[in-house]
Amino acid sequence: MLSPLNFLPTSRRVAVIGAGAGGLVTARELGREGHQVVVFERNTRIGGTWVYSSEIESDPLGVDPNRTRIHSSLYKSLRTNLPRELMGVRDYPFVPREGEDRDPRRFPSHREVLKYLEDFANEFGICKLVRFGTEVVFAGLEEVGKWRVEFRCENGDVDEDLFDALVVCVGNYSQPRVAEIPGIDGWPGEQLHSHNYRDPEPFRGKVVVLIGYSSSGTDICQELIGVAKEIHIAWRSAKTELLDTESINSNVSFHPMIESVHKDGAVVFQDGCTVSADVILHCTGYKYHFPFLETNGIVTVDNNRVGPLYKHVFPPALAPGLSFVGLPFKVVPFPLFELQSNWIAGVLSNRIALPSKEEMLADVKAFYKDLEALGKPKHRTHDLGDCLPAYFDWLAAVCGCPAYEEWRKEMYIATHMNKVANLKSYRDDWHDNELIRQAYEEFRKYAT
Ligand code: FAD
Repeated sequence: MLSPLNFLPTSRRVAVIGAGAGGLVTARELGREGHQVVVFERNTRIGGTWVYSSEIESDPLGVDPNRTRIHSSLYKSLRTNLPRELMGVRDYPFVPREGEDRDPRRFPSHREVLKYLEDFANEFGICKLVRFGTEVVFAGLEEVGKWRVEFRCENGDVDEDLFDALVVCVGNYSQPRVAEIPGIDGWPGEQLHSHNYRDPEPFRGKVVVLIGYSSSGTDICQELIGVAKEIHIAWRSAKTELLDTESINSNVSFHPMIESVHKDGAVVFQDGCTVSADVILHCTGYKYHFPFLETNGIVTVDNNRVGPLYKHVFPPALAPGLSFVGLPFKVVPFPLFELQSNWIAGVLSNRIALPSKEEMLADVKAFYKDLEALGKPKHRTHDLGDCLPAYFDWLAAVCGCPAYEEWRKEMYIATHMNKVANLKSYRDDWHDNELIRQAYEEFRKYAT
């Protein structure tokens, strides 16, 4: 941080792209720091991922570049996979609210999260900063220190505006990544990506091969158990001993990855097991995708590594004018957005100093080297995994915010352990009551 003596606060005109949770929190942090903020949002309402749509894309696999697009990847019955105490923005806790249409559960439905985000936006007056129905189609450096944003309005007109800085908050769960399967072109079955899964009914009586068994895969599998005839899970790290065996029914089998598929409908797994399947459901995650962003090749997406980025946020050569909020995964998203955007806001106002471009680049190179030494593939560059608490603590320290509370770290681990041990009922049955008590004790600070 800069000392108060040499801190000359600067107010900048900042474009935020996206009014999901990331954009809303970023707009608040930038506004609090004295910046002038314009949020571009192509939807007609705030909430991003949390705006559920029962519609699916015209290509259910999500690979046709000309498909009709749906932003949200939520399925109908989705409940959060993190407890509300962890999910909320730190100084605006996600506590149960009274009201007929509110869901007070600890792991509430997606509708309740959207309501929380609407409450947040109302509380901090964010909606007036948002230009709804404007899709950013181009964003690039116009001249030193100026970013040109071109946006398509609802009537089809394209307009443009100039900004001192650009914060990209477009979310990371809309561009499906699918598994490559030898023989798939001739396979007669149906394929879809979890992005386009809404409810289990279309899979009634079918033999389903599910690729991937992470957050979406586990939830979808639970839904399909009572409906599909058979579920075959192709899972790269098929550690079945980690699973709660009682949660897995007899119509579920685990396999290593698919070796090949055939014209007669056969799906052959690497263990030699063959099944005749109706559907392949790719629960294989998403790709970072910034089709509007022009950086003359300075920032690239290479095998799902967005880089080079200092601490997942600033490209050294374009900092602080360009930044990204929310790239890391396996995180607690809303508090992450809060810390990252507080850092961005502070850097843009000169409250917080960035290292030199050379130092940032050296840091990025050292980080990539560490990943390599750990054997972590490129596509997991932004997977924070066990480094989450250290990353939060680093951001909090650089921003001058309180450290990430111990109860949060412990609750995150406790939730994960409970989920692994108790896949079917971890959302309704838990053992971390003392941590919940500590959470609510802290929330009293923010009670209005
Ligand atoms: P988004 O919510 O995706 O918002 C991005 C916004 O940018 C959208 O409104 C979009 O319309 C807009 N946009 C995109 N491109 C443009 C453009 N060119 N011009 C203008 N606007 C644009 N997190 C949790 O904390 N708890 C959970 O339980 C949880 N469960 C999840 C379950 C699923 C199935 C998924 C997919 C995610 C889940 N998440 C969960 C993570 C969730 O994505 C984050 O919580 C968070 O909502 C992401 O916010 P975001 O602002 O980064 O992105």
